[in-house]
Amino acid sequence: MLQIRHTPVLVAAVVLFASACGAEDPELGTENQPTVVVTTNILGDVVTNLTGGTVKVVEIMPVGADPHDFRASARQADAMRSADALIVNGAGFEEGLLDVIEGAEIDGVAVFEAIGAVTPIALGDDGHDDHDAYENHNGHEQEGIDPHFFTDPARMAVAVHAIADFLIDEIDEIDAVAVKSAAEAYQAELEALDEEIANLIALIPQARRVLVTNHEVFGYFAERYGFDVVGAIIPGGSTTDGASAGALAALAETIRGAGVTVIFADVSSPTDLAQTLATEVGDIEVVTLYSESLGEANSDGATYLDMIRANAERIAAALAS
Ligand SMILES: [Zn+2]
Repeated sequence: MLQIRHTPVLVAAVVLFASACGAEDPELGTENQPTVVVTTNILGDVVTNLTGGTVKVVEIMPVGADPHDFRASARQADAMRSADALIVNGAGFEEGLLDVIEGAEIDGVAVFEAIGAVTPIALGDDGHDDHDAYENHNGHEQEGIDPHFFTDPARMAVAVHAIADFLIDEIDEIDAVAVKSAAEAYQAELEALDEEIANLIALIPQARRVLVTNHEVFGYFAERYGFDVVGAIIPGGSTTDGASAGALAALAETIRGAGVTVIFADVSSPTDLAQTLATEVGDIEVVTLYSESLGEANSDGATYLDMIRANAERIAAALAS
């Protein structure tokens, strides 16, 4: 039997779920291992590093998913609403999951927003403020907060400890000493990576530290390592708005004016718009990065540490010359 902490509401949710899906369901069945559900595969990898197999970590978004418009299946929604704990990116990042996250909270599931652990930055002030208003699952408008904090490994190092504390608070069965020790070890890896990236970026002349990306996804990376984000193909902090021909023409002008030589697209999204823009400007390279999903298992972006390192290496290779 599961240990129930948020007694009345969660019992109701568990009973409902069990009657809908059968008691043999692995999410609830005879296994006593607590289940932590994580919306994004990036945070899923981080949480797995902290828990070392002592809890079952369920990731909702598969590799290559677009987190802004991903929608949960009925089974995934059930898993989120019956989790022992739910970890999300927050600040409106998981636009397609907001209803389910809110439902889980109503059911009494402890929900942790990772972005709440770090100092946020605003989305670039590029005159597209109409795209920047998000409503998070608490109903608080988070106007203009850039949700992509994970592009800065130093911020992730801060979030790691907050996630560890949350897990220790919410999961009675967890080995607190082991989780704290794993958090410290992972923080050390993140700090080493941060230094490694700083050394790579030092090879890029300051005037060439400019980014044009798929959407406004590398704001935290830019702030951390001294880049200027001069434009995004899809304005704003999401991928769900699309780009107009007029906006692309204006961006082409900006790119010419700023002497940009590379457009950074996303590994898991179509690069058509980036290619169109590159053709429009001429003599521009399109380089793909792991923007907001891990890469495939055998790729150089298979883990969070790998994806951040691979991105920095690709950016340095493209701009340091
Ligand atoms: Zn994004």
